[in-house]
Amino acid sequence: MNSFQYVTATSPESAHELLAKNGRYLGGGIDLLGEMKDYITEPSVVVNVKDLPGLDKIQSGDKVWTFGTNVTVAQLEDHPELKKVFPGLQMAAAEVGSRQIRNVATLGGNLAQHSRCWYYRHRDVKCLKRGGNTCYARDGENKYHSLFTGNPCISPVVSNLAISLGTLEAVVIVERGGKTLRLSISELYQKAWENPTAHNSLEPGDLITKIEIPVQQRRSAYLQMSEKSMFDWALVSCAASAKFDGSKVSQARIFLGQVANVPFMVQEANESLEGASLDENSANKAADLLLEKAQPHSQNGYKVQIAKTLVRRTLLQLKA
Ligand SMILES: Cc1cc2nc3c(=O)[nH]c(=O)nc-3n(C[C@H](O)[C@H](O)[C@H](O)COP(=O)(O)OP(=O)(O)OC[C@H]3O[C@@H](n4cnc5c(N)ncnc54)[C@H](O)[C@@H]3O)c2cc1C
Ligand code: SF4
Repeated sequence: MNSFQYVTATSPESAHELLAKNGRYLGGGIDLLGEMKDYITEPSVVVNVKDLPGLDKIQSGDKVWTFGTNVTVAQLEDHPELKKVFPGLQMAAAEVGSRQIRNVATLGGNLAQHSRCWYYRHRDVKCLKRGGNTCYARDGENKYHSLFTGNPCISPVVSNLAISLGTLEAVVIVERGGKTLRLSISELYQKAWENPTAHNSLEPGDLITKIEIPVQQRRSAYLQMSEKSMFDWALVSCAASAKFDGSKVSQARIFLGQVANVPFMVQEANESLEGASLDENSANKAADLLLEKAQPHSQNGYKVQIAKTLVRRTLLQLKA
């Protein structure tokens, strides 16, 4: 690791000022310090944002819940009321890495974590995402890579929390150069669909401060399939939410993780459930629509069937 300056910000404004040209924000450090140790990123200044006042709390409300960016994944996992109101988010949090990681990892850092592609993470490989000319995964080791992409990079988004927050219609609040942006989860990642060097839509200096989730009487759930039971990312993950009118579904939202360079959603799949009873048939139909345009690579075709199964199982968890 190269030497760097370490500073602690006491307000969002000071965080931005301290960042200078080549700085990086530090939350729990699980992702950033790994990148620094591997010389993937070499910031001249690391700005600790974990002491920003008031941003480590979960505030419940009748209409909206507000989460500071520094709320840890363990706080989401442990909050007894959250488990009742947003069970899908609690389930997604409980599956992150391991308890040691969840104790330290922050909500903002989890959303902003970088690609886990092993070519990207190799200090001596300058792939497309790091400004090189080639995606080595396309004709190489692509077992963990995407089924859908909008650009030549096939590295998937791996944040559990992102897909769960997507189904809950969360708003991510970002400070950008004196302006406050309110981004949907899809907007937070849109740039990664278009641009191979992007991990998300954040620009240098953008600071996630809060996440808001509207209270909408949605049922929600999250399931994933992994190779290991802990200390690992999912192979594929699925989050779903829906409102119910009696036994009929309304406003279903399904997101898949680890299959695209954004949290992956297909509007037709959501719409196919509108007014339907939730059963094996309707859940399978939605799964087929979600995976219809999948483009597997040489080693990741297995993800298609896992994704379909997860969609069906996650949706059926929404049944009362
Ligand atoms: C073995 C292992 C298994 C894992 N398994 C999973 C898993 O199953 N699911 C999953 O979702 N994750 C998993 N992770 C990833 C882990 O959850 C993330 O690395 C962690 O959540 C990042 O949070 P952090 O607070 O440590 O972020 P940091 O490492 O501090 O920061 C991550 C990135 O976000 C930026 N950043 C931090 N805070 C802000 C902010 N407020 N505004 C803007 N940018 C910010 C940093 O500059 C950096 O680029 C795993 C990690 C490991 C090591
Ligand atoms: S998938 Fe993306 S991150 Fe991985 S080698 Fe290809 S361009 Fe690089």
